[in-house]
Amino acid sequence: MEGALTARDRVGIQDFVLLDETTDAAFLSNLKKRFSKDLIYTYIGTLLVSVNPYKELDIYNKKQMDLYMGVNFFELPPHIYALADNAYQTMLTEFNNHFILISGESGAGKTEASKKILQYYAVSCPSTTLLNTVRDKMLMSNPVLEAFGNAKTLKNDNSSRFGKYMDIEFDSQGDAVGGHILNYLLEKSRVVHQNHGERNFHIFYQLVEGGEDNLLHQLGLERDSQHYNYLTQGECAIVSSINDRNDWKTVKNALQIINIDHLFGIIASVLHLGNVQFDSDSKGHALLNNNLLGVDARSLQESLTFRKIEARQDQVLSPFTIDHAIYARDALAKAIYGQTFTWLVSRINESMENKDPSRKTVIGLLDIYGFEVFYVNSFEQFCINYCNEKLQQLFIQLTLKAEQEEYEAEDIEWEPVQFFNNKIICDLVEEKHRGIISILDEECLRPGDATDLTFLERLEDKMGNHPHFVTHKLADKMTRKTLERGDFRLLHYAGEVTYCVVGFLDKNNDLLYRNIKDVATQFKSSLLKLTEILMAKEAWYIRCLKSNESKQPGQFDEALIRHQVKYLGLMEHLRVRRAGFAYRRKYEVFLKRYKPLCPATWPHWNGVPADGVEVLVQHLGYFPNEYKMGRTKIFIRHPRTLYATEDAYEKC
Ligand code: ADP
Ligand code: MG
Repeated sequence: MEGALTARDRVGIQDFVLLDETTDAAFLSNLKKRFSKDLIYTYIGTLLVSVNPYKELDIYNKKQMDLYMGVNFFELPPHIYALADNAYQTMLTEFNNHFILISGESGAGKTEASKKILQYYAVSCPSTTLLNTVRDKMLMSNPVLEAFGNAKTLKNDNSSRFGKYMDIEFDSQGDAVGGHILNYLLEKSRVVHQNHGERNFHIFYQLVEGGEDNLLHQLGLERDSQHYNYLTQGECAIVSSINDRNDWKTVKNALQIINIDHLFGIIASVLHLGNVQFDSDSKGHALLNNNLLGVDARSLQESLTFRKIEARQDQVLSPFTIDHAIYARDALAKAIYGQTFTWLVSRINESMENKDPSRKTVIGLLDIYGFEVFYVNSFEQFCINYCNEKLQQLFIQLTLKAEQEEYEAEDIEWEPVQFFNNKIICDLVEEKHRGIISILDEECLRPGDATDLTFLERLEDKMGNHPHFVTHKLADKMTRKTLERGDFRLLHYAGEVTYCVVGFLDKNNDLLYRNIKDVATQFKSSLLKLTEILMAKEAWYIRCLKSNESKQPGQFDEALIRHQVKYLGLMEHLRVRRAGFAYRRKYEVFLKRYKPLCPATWPHWNGVPADGVEVLVQHLGYFPNEYKMGRTKIFIRHPRTLYATEDAYEKC
């Protein structure tokens, strides 16, 4: 019966916009059908949905790159190269700026996707030998940042623990001539603490496992990760999917290309710091009991076991307990690592700098942590989920704007769409003087007895009856059973998340002190800046889905995927995209494909393409309310109209 099956039956639908019905079940079943055939990419219009196959597919070679270069978006099967190429070609013809937003939960394939796009530009774009050096550096920035910013977590053996936005700059010929990276919220707490089954950042293990004998000797390091407190808490220094020794070579080589050395002393010092121990004297005050850092013992003792208090003209040293001293030690280690990371990014940026920025356009790549819900959610999840709210808000604004603009440009009547707007949640978090972040900042700066719990009380006072905010005190009887006293719950657009306030003040202080003068929290202002950067550009989206939790090839966990489809807002996007006219194509493209179906257009149509399309669709029996003719495109209201055409096409 194979012959009677249409392409739709065999490999599913390549563009969800053409689904018969927009139900979750239909969406999932199409995704599953394609996944089972190793077709991991599907479009929703120009948005790309990708499902992590957890196995190497032979679709990322040079031959495939050549195939997709300069080809019309919808002519070939969906591919990440098609999206990369479409953004690139649009940039060249319209000379404007673009960004590609890659989102999805940890392990869904965001970082792999961003690497594939970078490779596509590096390999496919025209090049001169001179520019190759910039290109090499751009490619080399990846392994370096991954070594310092990625770690094994329970969800992903190579999980990015920072958000990354990278601009790739092109000259008017389309040559990649420079790059620039912005980084967000490195998870510094990982330097001093790892949960069971997780590791510290890769670079530590790479150095200890792969570092040359003389280097380790010079740095006073043992070739044994078990020797270091900061590397052993997760009890999984060795991971089968990770080869630290090989990675070390790659990273060292990459650092050389970017011209960075002298870095390992600092990395070693963090490891040494983690091994610093304290005893207590008869009064319970902390004493340093070993000194492995090679720094002046007295000043180390002073800085880790005393607090300096400025009193009028004097400085008073107040002794720490052991707990305080450990806290100070860990804070120092985190600060050192955080600064090193920032420094590294700025050095990479210097090395990729575009020497002639006069005529350039950019394609920005945003690889940012997806929505996170853990068993216990803390300040980090709060920031990450807030970031996702902001991006969803941007997505809504840009998608609706783009739809509206397209209809206007094509002279087609615009019909507004109803959907949930998450602005109310963004405001709840970020509004000046009234939002959660403002209240947190105020509490951090309030002299006296501010604690995590007083912060929670302030929230309860101010947010009392907000429909997206709940605490134990404010909840109804049923909900109260699911909330602890120290928790607050936010009803995010993607679902509800309960946050435990413990540590909020401390962690926010850490961000706050960096630019205390303008009080706005650094994360909030850097997100605001990012939104501005993105708003000025044309948007492309890749939504990555994780196929299963056990990282196994071929497994399609329906419940898990349904959940991601929901919180990535895919159905919402599909609805917006289909609200007016589900399908639209340039007249040339439409005519080129379907002209065999009509004697008047086959083999050649001698007039303008729009007229040819009109003749063609009338011949096919389209009713007047089923389609509209725009300036450059035909718009078809319902996919079914196109199905009939497509079926006829397959038969002919
Ligand atoms: P994220 O950045 O979303 O957390 P990654 O991009 O690091 O996730 O992907 C996690 C793992 O999944 C990768 O290390 C790789 O093993 C696998 N993977 C992701 N995308 C692909 C792909 N397109 N093809 C094959 N394997 C993939
Ligand atoms: Mg990642």
